[in-house]
Amino acid sequence: TVAFLNDQWMALEEAKISPLDRGFLYGDGVYEVIPVHKGQPVALNAHVSRLTRGLSDIKLHVNKTSEEWRSLIIDVVTHNQRGDEPADYTAIYLHVSRGADTKRHHAFPQGITPTVFAFSFDIPPPPPKQRENVNCLQVGLSEDKRWKRCHIKSTSLLGNVLHYQAAAEQGLAETILYNEHRQVTEASSCNVFAVIAGIVVTPPLDLQLLPGITRLCVIQALKSAHIPVEERVLTVEELLRSDEVWLTSSTKEIAPVSQVDGHLIGDGRAGEYWERAINALDNVKFTL
Ligand code: PLP
Repeated sequence: TVAFLNDQWMALEEAKISPLDRGFLYGDGVYEVIPVHKGQPVALNAHVSRLTRGLSDIKLHVNKTSEEWRSLIIDVVTHNQRGDEPADYTAIYLHVSRGADTKRHHAFPQGITPTVFAFSFDIPPPPPKQRENVNCLQVGLSEDKRWKRCHIKSTSLLGNVLHYQAAAEQGLAETILYNEHRQVTEASSCNVFAVIAGIVVTPPLDLQLLPGITRLCVIQALKSAHIPVEERVLTVEELLRSDEVWLTSSTKEIAPVSQVDGHLIGDGRAGEYWERAINALDNVKFTL
């Protein structure tokens, strides 16, 4: 694997950063995971605009235009191409931290250079597109114990990791999270959709959840396929009684869920709306 670190290309094993890097000490940074299907980045513009928004939200100035971010991502793909054929399914991890200071101090240091790191890794192929052939996930449910700026794709992921690990320890694939009003926010590394009486529902964007790029692609795909979709508050009680539940992320695309916290969803198999959504997704994923 070839990595990019501070304007240099190197073998991933050779990439080294200072222990005083604020990404290491404070999780002071933002990141992106951009899926690459057969050499083509998915929703590249949408990923770059979330990155630049995140950098500006945390007041981290990097001397790169959106065009330069896009070409960096494409260069990481190119540097990691094996042979003539692009690998089938990979993703680019792109991480920007505030950089290394000479001491440990909370306030932003003046005059340091941000750390920009990127590499490529293999991801599983997208799920099969027929409902009979896809595996469903069983997931847990928990009150969201993270911070109040979940719209930022922050590298401080301890809250997410602890929620994810709690699921893993029970043999579950994810944890769906809800706020103090028992409204669903998202999952520890995915966005959440539910199908209720023929309408696909997903929680509205606010500070409680990440504006997932797959979420955006799925909403676009549903709209272009004339499938009703609503961004609205979704309570835990509605979620548990819904006909279908899906989790979306760059590495999972749309994953159907069969059980939430021991409650069977629908008949416990991927549903008809899931099949329509996953088939509609291909028409938009390279356009955003
Ligand atoms: N929500 C959280 C907390 C995430 O970490 C992620 C992705 O890793 C998502 C949602 C899904 O976002 P995307 O579709 O951009 O991968």
